[in-house]
Amino acid sequence: MNKNLYSPLIFEHTHKGRKGYALPDYGKGEICLPPVLLRSNAPELPEVDEPTVVRHYTNSSNNNFGVDTGFYPLGSCTMKYNPKVNEAMVSRSGVANLHPAQPALSVQGALRIYRSLEKYLSEIGGMSEFTLNPFAGAHGEYVGLRVVRAYHISRADEARRKVLVPDSAHGTNPASAAMAGFEIVEVKSRPDGTVDMDDLQSKLDETVAAMMMTNPNTAGMFEYNIPQIAEAVHAVGALMYYDGANLNPMLGIARPGDMGFDVMHINLHKTFSTPHGGGGPGAGPVGVRKGLEEFLPNPRVTEHDDGSLAIEFGEDAFGRVSSWLGNFTVYIKALAYILSLGADGIAKVGPLSTLNANYIMNSLKDLYRLPIPGPCKHEFVFDGLIDKSTGVTTLNIAKALLDYGFHAPTIYFPLLFHESLMIEPTETENIETLDRFIEVMREIANAVVYSPEKVKNAPYTTPISHPDEDEAALNPIVKYEDLHHEAL
Ligand SMILES: *Cc1c(COP(=O)(O)O)cnc(C)c1O
Repeated sequence: MNKNLYSPLIFEHTHKGRKGYALPDYGKGEICLPPVLLRSNAPELPEVDEPTVVRHYTNSSNNNFGVDTGFYPLGSCTMKYNPKVNEAMVSRSGVANLHPAQPALSVQGALRIYRSLEKYLSEIGGMSEFTLNPFAGAHGEYVGLRVVRAYHISRADEARRKVLVPDSAHGTNPASAAMAGFEIVEVKSRPDGTVDMDDLQSKLDETVAAMMMTNPNTAGMFEYNIPQIAEAVHAVGALMYYDGANLNPMLGIARPGDMGFDVMHINLHKTFSTPHGGGGPGAGPVGVRKGLEEFLPNPRVTEHDDGSLAIEFGEDAFGRVSSWLGNFTVYIKALAYILSLGADGIAKVGPLSTLNANYIMNSLKDLYRLPIPGPCKHEFVFDGLIDKSTGVTTLNIAKALLDYGFHAPTIYFPLLFHESLMIEPTETENIETLDRFIEVMREIANAVVYSPEKVKNAPYTTPISHPDEDEAALNPIVKYEDLHHEAL
């Protein structure tokens, strides 16, 4: 561990008696808590003066990179600008001060937000009904597959233990299917990245419960065979599952429900205005087509004839999946985003994200190897540089980008190619940013020709440049005490 990289915890700055806070004056009288809830000892908080607190957190945040710092073209995990006004909606006192245990009668507005979002997502996905409860995309997949299982069990068709997953799928797909108790069967891709129909046909039979698909797939290609795939999967009595984590390219253009999908999830923290990354909070709502509503998890927000809303527990298909109603603030941002864009704005998301990706792809394909000829949807994959003679790899290019203030694209995924470099610009970047990125990618490719070593040794400007990745994976330092010990 490099001593210069060791940044102390706020607790290491503590000096008895120093104060650096000013509490807001609520002036609302005494707060009455039952004695059992009151602590007997004072909390062990750091005692630090204000400049130290401000510098500590400002410097810590400067060690990070996010969409607020620079362009973040991370394929398969939409990282886009999320309007700050949606964050402002969340901090309004009317919602910020809600308590999840409040009786439904006192939170009718919050339940209306929940119900409205469910309806908009159903409209956007072409589904009959949504639950917002799941906390993440992977969690949504798990819940969706439990819905699939509950459906088969309800028909006394329990022998279906297999879930088909294309080899290009996001890693969460097989993981969630395994968690839901299924056996995973991989379906091959054709050279153009789409599902191999012959391979699919050979694996379809009465033991298959569902086929999971991502469309556009993880190589950024539209699966043009979806109608035939859905027909073949339905013909053996299995269901179609849609991984809608990155729904951007579909918005306003096509709906999973209309393509023949039965169950789907959406990542609100990718497509609907919650920043993605850092472990949450997120939400992975799950939608189902008509006839599967009864298998959605509890609790549900239901509407009575008089227009009032209630939190209800119906017949239980497979138990609860979240505490309370899930990550409520994420719903507020999603609803604010949908309402502020309106139907017209939503309809531009798909075309714009597609246009931006194709623009970058076509501006670089003379220097970077494009294994699947376009047009792509919202993202695309290069297989490293065309000129492989210098030994410069995708990892080198990704690291070289950091010196220019760009986050690296997704690398070595999907597994379809040796040197995958997966780029997603999203719909929210302007032409100047896209042009600058193209210019830098060309500059790096040209630098490789006259000094490959210079590119291999990049980055030169980041706090850490070439960590020992094997050591970091095999012996990670995850305890504060160990880190402290190493640094001293
Ligand atoms: C991000 C992503 C997921 C998983 O979502 P999490 O919220 O990270 O669990 C699943 N599928 C695809 C295609 C994704 O991009």
